[in-house]
Amino acid sequence: MSVYRTRPVFKHTQSVHEIKPGVIRLGEFYKDMGVEIEDDDGAILKLIQYMDGTRTVPELFRLLKETYDHIRLDEVEAAVYELHNLGFLYDYSALERSSLTDLERHRFKANLDYFSFYSTFQSSPWTMQEKLKSAHVTIIGIGGFGSSLLFHLGGLGVTQVKVVDFDTVDLSNLNRQMLFNEADIGKLKIDVAKDFMARFYSDMKVETVHKQILSVEDAASVIQGTDLVILAADQPLFLLQRWINKACVNLQTPFVVGGINVISGFLLTVSPLETGCIDCLHIQQSERYPDYVQSVSNILRFDNQIPNSAIVSNLMIICGMISSEIFRYFTGVGPLVSKGTMINIDFMTLEKEKAIDLSQRHAACPTCGSCNEEHSVIHVFEELGIAQNI
Ligand SMILES: [Zn+2]
Repeated sequence: MSVYRTRPVFKHTQSVHEIKPGVIRLGEFYKDMGVEIEDDDGAILKLIQYMDGTRTVPELFRLLKETYDHIRLDEVEAAVYELHNLGFLYDYSALERSSLTDLERHRFKANLDYFSFYSTFQSSPWTMQEKLKSAHVTIIGIGGFGSSLLFHLGGLGVTQVKVVDFDTVDLSNLNRQMLFNEADIGKLKIDVAKDFMARFYSDMKVETVHKQILSVEDAASVIQGTDLVILAADQPLFLLQRWINKACVNLQTPFVVGGINVISGFLLTVSPLETGCIDCLHIQQSERYPDYVQSVSNILRFDNQIPNSAIVSNLMIICGMISSEIFRYFTGVGPLVSKGTMINIDFMTLEKEKAIDLSQRHAACPTCGSCNEEHSVIHVFEELGIAQNI
């Protein structure tokens, strides 16, 4: 892209000031971003002040020449390139090509200011918001994670969301499922969620699917046509994950899954045929830990005896992290932390660790690999599915 066609703007989220005569400091608010630039005659500071997004580089040059008679166009161009390479500029002319309405730019002003920090001459905050606007997300399960993430999608500006659930609101949900209130008890969660979002963000089209997913075919039927799936339910334990996983791999749709137990929580993003999948994970873990299969069997056997210990504080930590992955996925602001990596959070220390590396597909995976033979751990899951009459 030619720098001449841009109308550079110095990012409003960045600082600039003269720290002593002839030296300016840029971007000192943020860790490792601050730089000092020599500016003997004050021309760079003037250039930054003039870069408010209304002027092209030749126009900036002509304006500077009124004060600095000796200045050349190629010097201004070089300075603009340098400031852009340092991460301080983006192209304000991109606004003219944006499809966002005035109302959308007003509503999502803070989003746009945030995205502007990561914008360049090639990527604009308006484009990032547009990518969120046109995204199509499916949420499986509208309980603790799902209802909160629906809120987050509204805040991010996603306008096409499908919610899949079969459950009704219970009084015991209200410690953490803030989308619902006392008057909603007994109503279908998907209906309450749709009504709520119609008032909160009327541009969002919420498609509701009243369904319990009990097979790969069920999963595929709701995932079809979706850009990203959020798996926010966990029952039947292990099996639901496997059905969503297989449907997503077949349709090549990425999904992010999260969960919590008493002391920790996790999140993981599977990018089909790029990272490993849930079955790769089970095979990998069974090879690493000899008693893995036995542990899984025990968890399944005792699952109904373990109380739900999800408190809002812990839940929202993982919710926020999933939501953060979602906007990075659509905007490209940064890489996904949990793509092919299971991230674990210790709720007592708030420490984060990369618990499982799933960046590679497992050669023995029958779901995302080319292996047709059933691995012993997968066989166990198939047997468990049959044993549970599912
Ligand atoms: Zn796999």
